[in-house]
Amino acid sequence: MKKTVYMLTSLFILGACTQGKQAGSGPADDGIDSAFEYKVDRFADIEILRYPVPGFNSLSLQQKELIYYLSQAALEGRDILWDQHNRYNLTIRRVCEGVYENYMGDKSSDDWKQFETYLKQIWMANGIHHHYSEDKIMPQFTQEYFVSIVKGVDPGRMPFRDGMAADETLSEILPVMFDPAVMPRRMNQASGADIVATSAVNFYEGVTQQEVESFYHAMKNPTDETPLSYGLNSKVTKVDGQVTEQVWKLGGMYDKAIERIVGWLEKAAAVAENDHQKEVITLLIDYYRSGDLKRFDDYSVKWVTDTASRVDFINGFIETYTDPLGLKATWEAMVNFKSEEASKRTQIISDNAQWFENHSPIDDRFKKEKVKGVSAKVITAAILGGDTYPATPIGINLPNADWIRRDHGSKSVTIDNITYAYTKAAEGNGFNEEFMWSDTERELAKQYGPLTDNLHTDLHECLGHGSGKLLPGVSSDVLQAYGSPLEETRADLFALYYLADPKLVELGLLPDSEAYKAEYYSYIMNGAMTQLTRIQPGKEIEQAHMRNRALISRWVIEKGRDEKVVELTQQEGKTYVVVNNYEKLRSLFGELLAEVQRIKSEGDFAAGKLLVETYGVKVDPILHEEVLARYESLNLAPYKGFVNPVYKLVTDDKGKVTDVTISYDENYVDQQLRYSRQYSVLPLKN
Ligand code: ZN
Repeated sequence: MKKTVYMLTSLFILGACTQGKQAGSGPADDGIDSAFEYKVDRFADIEILRYPVPGFNSLSLQQKELIYYLSQAALEGRDILWDQHNRYNLTIRRVCEGVYENYMGDKSSDDWKQFETYLKQIWMANGIHHHYSEDKIMPQFTQEYFVSIVKGVDPGRMPFRDGMAADETLSEILPVMFDPAVMPRRMNQASGADIVATSAVNFYEGVTQQEVESFYHAMKNPTDETPLSYGLNSKVTKVDGQVTEQVWKLGGMYDKAIERIVGWLEKAAAVAENDHQKEVITLLIDYYRSGDLKRFDDYSVKWVTDTASRVDFINGFIETYTDPLGLKATWEAMVNFKSEEASKRTQIISDNAQWFENHSPIDDRFKKEKVKGVSAKVITAAILGGDTYPATPIGINLPNADWIRRDHGSKSVTIDNITYAYTKAAEGNGFNEEFMWSDTERELAKQYGPLTDNLHTDLHECLGHGSGKLLPGVSSDVLQAYGSPLEETRADLFALYYLADPKLVELGLLPDSEAYKAEYYSYIMNGAMTQLTRIQPGKEIEQAHMRNRALISRWVIEKGRDEKVVELTQQEGKTYVVVNNYEKLRSLFGELLAEVQRIKSEGDFAAGKLLVETYGVKVDPILHEEVLARYESLNLAPYKGFVNPVYKLVTDDKGKVTDVTISYDENYVDQQLRYSRQYSVLPLKN
């Protein structure tokens, strides 16, 4: 499972429970200074960013070498993903790239610029369908223009398949590219349709939904306590009228790319940090060789129990979001290492868990006598590949097999440097200028925003959810659908309340007693106003985290009205949040925390429902319209992608590796074209 952020409008965007943790003060080493360029490219609805890899240069040579080999393995699977998304993707991409690199005609025309944008879009989506909406990306240039530029290039420089002529290749790909009725959606989930036959993914060919379902139904044993992930690593087709699987393995489908991946994994195994990690890599190689799903489970168990290694990675057929039936996994990879600095922060919080519990403003009857802090692992991504590139998650929780999670646990990580890059890139995008009340709030946000946002997340995750207890006899599901937003409310309030506590300065987690104000202001601004940018006109607030943020913000505005603690103020037709009394605001958070804890501990359904329905659901249509219009005027790209850093092996004259360097100077177009040259060994159609 992955947590993804698709639209970064402020610091509070991340939809999932874990909001992601950034390096608070920012990565200062490794030459990543204030001149680091986070923004790389902008086109259509996309902005491409660059992420820093702080700490890489301080790793041992062995760890760097390990990362290098794993990163090569992470890039080799790129074309697998392209082909999985649609069987014409590789042909279309290579034809477009052939034109892009070799066309000698007019490159200043609008048509050419639209063609360039299209190529950038399909790179971003790893295919011709939008990475998020699943809809086919429609070219903003004509078919005639496309034919003219394809034919305008020396055919010897074009990647036409099997010596096919331009006309033959074009007749195959033109309808796929230009006809809106052909393969309109990568994944179709419309009820009533044959979702297998109407989805453009290349997981199935020539088979119906019914046929696929019975094929896999026959494999399953409902009493199996540890079932295999049937169908995870194969395409389903028909041979001689029989439904059959083409397995993605060495010697099977995608053989050429998998051979390369295995080659790099073998090198990685030789420089593993320890025996456990070496076994992880070896089991993965076995799985790629055999395609045996039992091997995949063995590998997953070994992987999830490796908690000692500094370097870690994902490589393989993992997530099933893009299969309409949820069986087939797209190929993805990521290499990362534990961020010691950020993990220190969560350690301090965990170590003091009992102090926080004892001093919480809730009724003593609801406090835990013995509380155990949970320390989450914070990681630094070193390379993104396959389905994590260019669009990338900010957190990952694996493995997906339920029985492995049950019997062996799961690894949950948040990706520090990606979130940090999002934050840095959002600086100066005009958002705070548009929505914050004055320079005072903007200064607070600039100086303390990332740090207090992180701390809020840490307190929420490591302590908030684990704090408090139910009274005897109260069942955990008594709050029903209100349970989830109320639980998030409780964890958020715990974090908000403690952010202003002198204890945090004492523990060295905050620099001074002003810092918390940055989070207080941003939180209310988001909860009462700016999160509405993610709601369609006329709709109510549905998502649990959004309900919780609205609930808290609107409750404190109402309860603090008489004393003008925090209010919504109008100026020149625009609405702003104004906080007049931060200390009083903290005590309101404490008051609400005590009440929400009471509701949970006593299982008071009626009071819980009333809170959520009164403060967490409804949208003021006039304010909503205003906020949407103001957001629209900022012209921000709703989707972000990333380019990777470039790693190079340094060897001495005997070929011995002496160092691995990292650089950040490659732009989006150059990187995509290089990947297409360097990591592209699959045939055009698979
Ligand atoms: Zn949560």
